[in-house]
Amino acid sequence: MEPLPKQYLCGECGKVYKWMDNLRRHQRLECGKLPKYHCEICLKMFYRRYELTKHIKLKHIA
Ligand SMILES: [Zn+2]
Ligand SMILES: [Zn+2]
Repeated sequence: MEPLPKQYLCGECGKVYKWMDNLRRHQRLECGKLPKYHCEICLKMFYRRYELTKHIKLKHIA
C-alpha cells in the first residue's frame, strides 16, 4: 500500500484539497460564505455566476 498523497485540510470547514492553491482559494472565496447564486428551477446553490449559467444550460435547457 502506498501512503496517501498529502492533502490540505481547511481548518474551518473540514474540506480537503490536493493542492495548497486550491485550499487558499477556497478559504479566500468560499469558506464561511454562503453561495450567492441559486437556480430558480431546482434551487441548487452556486458560488459563481458562470457555474449557475452553465448548470441551467446543461440541466434545464434542452
Ligand atoms: Zn473551509
Ligand atoms: Zn437547476
